[in-house]
Amino acid sequence: MSKHIPRKRFGQHFLCDHDIINAIINAIHPQPGDNLVEIGPGLGALTIPLLTHIPHFHVVELDRDIIARLQRTYPAERLTIHAGDALKFDFASLGKGLRIIGNLPYNISTPLLFHLAEFSPNIIDMHFMLQKEVVERMTASPDTHDYGRLTVMLQYRFEMESLFDVPPTAFDPPPKVDSAIVRMMPRAAEDMHANSVDTLAHVVSSAFAQRRKTLRNTLAGLLKAEDFVQLDIDPQRRAETISVADFVRIANYIQPKEKK
Ligand code: SAH
Repeated sequence: MSKHIPRKRFGQHFLCDHDIINAIINAIHPQPGDNLVEIGPGLGALTIPLLTHIPHFHVVELDRDIIARLQRTYPAERLTIHAGDALKFDFASLGKGLRIIGNLPYNISTPLLFHLAEFSPNIIDMHFMLQKEVVERMTASPDTHDYGRLTVMLQYRFEMESLFDVPPTAFDPPPKVDSAIVRMMPRAAEDMHANSVDTLAHVVSSAFAQRRKTLRNTLAGLLKAEDFVQLDIDPQRRAETISVADFVRIANYIQPKEKK
């Protein structure tokens, strides 16, 4: 087969370091019965070793040339190829108990993580290669610079752990940034429950829209002085000091449970 020229617009950085590839496969710990889906298989750096553990799985890939290569290389009973944009893909169509993995295109990582969050009831776990800076934001604690909208909206759905860092030299072509492997596991539904995720998203975006301002300012359209008293939250605090559980409490105060 002819050599594939990496395409920048598809965020193509192919893994080529075998120690790193092995470490990722070990972290995933694939089992024969897994309902696995890989986002962006590319030239197969992870796909090929995964196929030695799992008889069949799914891939979602956008690049037509790569799709044609995959179709030529793997029979349909080993690999189901979904040609299209992972941002629009209906992961629920693959059923329950999904394990999702990928060395993700970094240019779409935030919208893709938000898209995947909608399918959390169908997911067992996810393992992704991402920009290290994004993993630091995902796993951040309150009162740190990295704690923000991405942190709260993802920690609401998932428990997340940064597993290890990956240097640019592990890829061809090398990206300009450091990378890291993150594991994401959906939280139990009863852990924390927002009556309306839209309301939660609105509160969180408003609160972080101006990080330096107090909640009294950023949430002025949503909460009055007496509401802060009811919630027992000091309106002088800033968004980055508010825990995920407290953001959920604020959202549920604004949007109480609908009476059945
Ligand atoms: N997993 C491979 C390739 C990683 S590069 C490896 O580790 O070497 C990222 C891959 O995601 C490429 O194959 C790219 O074509 C694909 N991709 C980019 N945008 C995508 C999208 N929106 N949906 C699905 N795949 C996408």
